[in-house]
Amino acid sequence: MDQLLNKRPHRRYNPLRRSWLLVSPQRTSRPWQGETNKEKPAPGVVHDPSCYLCPGNTRTSGVVNPDYRNVYAFTNDFPALNMDHASVAAEPVADSAPSRLMRSEPESGTARVLCFHPNHSLALSKMNADDLTLVIDAWAEETLQLGAIPAINYVQIFENRGAMMGSSLPHPHCQIWATEHVPDEPKLEFEAQLEYLEDHKSCLLCDYLAEELKLNERIVVQNDSFAAVVPFWAVWPFETLVLSKSHLGSMPELTAVQRHDLAELLIRLTTRYDNLFQTSFPYTMGFHQAPTDGKKHPEWHFHAHFYPPLLRSAEIKKFMVGFELLGMPQRDITPETAAERLKALSEVHY
Ligand SMILES: [Zn+2]
Ligand SMILES: [Zn+2]
Ligand SMILES: [Zn+2]
Repeated sequence: MDQLLNKRPHRRYNPLRRSWLLVSPQRTSRPWQGETNKEKPAPGVVHDPSCYLCPGNTRTSGVVNPDYRNVYAFTNDFPALNMDHASVAAEPVADSAPSRLMRSEPESGTARVLCFHPNHSLALSKMNADDLTLVIDAWAEETLQLGAIPAINYVQIFENRGAMMGSSLPHPHCQIWATEHVPDEPKLEFEAQLEYLEDHKSCLLCDYLAEELKLNERIVVQNDSFAAVVPFWAVWPFETLVLSKSHLGSMPELTAVQRHDLAELLIRLTTRYDNLFQTSFPYTMGFHQAPTDGKKHPEWHFHAHFYPPLLRSAEIKKFMVGFELLGMPQRDITPETAAERLKALSEVHY
């Protein structure tokens, strides 16, 4: 790549959300210490009697979890959304106060919780590929079932890992929020992918992945079906984008082989993350799939984002404050340097 990009401040364009970020590589004069959290991981607790998600335990709502053997999904006891559209729409708030500047509207949806495994101490990085494939099957099924509801037009699967990301429950699980409207982030990506398809008669992320595979500079891990790359426009220090190698729009379209390959790649990637600072690496990860609005979405390319906050050690995190909150995101270490560090790590868990 252009060596000047390693030395001088510059802006990089994110074509997926049509936004910019500032890169300031000249500020990283400090040598890489590779500081790690020297603590050994605590011995794993298989079942925690005080955990709301472990099999057989009672949740705050009074519901008792079944004695589940692999995955277990349920509607959140205190969901951020509900399907009670009629009563919500009946509230006069939106209509009685017409204003150009104070708009509101009812929003239907549901929020589900999906436990990856009965074992309280597991994580994506510590699961085996067969068990994780069952989780992917469940993600695909949830996407199908929720997406088939007429009032649901988008299914967002995401995992918050670690207290640093605000996750209060250590049990391995994710959330699935399904909404009437396509949320802002996937909406930005939808519009960008659609415009690119119309302008270039090809898929934005297929074209991007082809360039990355050719350069082989920012690709961290790959197999026959998927690749994880530190994107050229990464904002978070060790952000990655997981891309399917074939053009498809959502989880239910994945073949059995592709599901197993995705599981394998997620394990390898998250193991590298844990090994980076020898800690349970915190992140928010999630899948971006085609809207479930009943229309064809040839523009949409299935992918996942990992947004981890850690910067230099298990304790030092990046904050989005100051110029970033008021201006635009900024980073010091380049995406190329981040990719180099992730590539150098072992795929055997510390
Ligand atoms: Zn648990
Ligand atoms: Zn594509
Ligand atoms: Zn996305």
